[in-house]
Amino acid sequence: MKKFDNILLQCSSCNLKVIFGLIYDIECDWGSHIVIQCPNCEELFSIDNSCPAFSSILDLTKLNSDLLNQQEISDYSSSAHPC
Ligand SMILES: [Zn+2]
Ligand SMILES: [Zn+2]
Repeated sequence: MKKFDNILLQCSSCNLKVIFGLIYDIECDWGSHIVIQCPNCEELFSIDNSCPAFSSILDLTKLNSDLLNQQEISDYSSSAHPC
């Protein structure tokens, strides 16, 4: 997950290009996640797997097309929480 450290991305929530912060071990109702946070609107995006408690990194890939490759996108989607 090295590439998510201090990464410059366009936020899908506020549309600004900002350097996201990386947060380890944030809890949801089903477990814990690694997330990145927009410093402007403070939206959280889970980067380890899809979770209904946080925004999806797939929203970011729509604006930042080189963020994930096809394999990473399918891994992310297939490891979503059952809920
Ligand atoms: Zn934002
Ligand atoms: Zn979760």
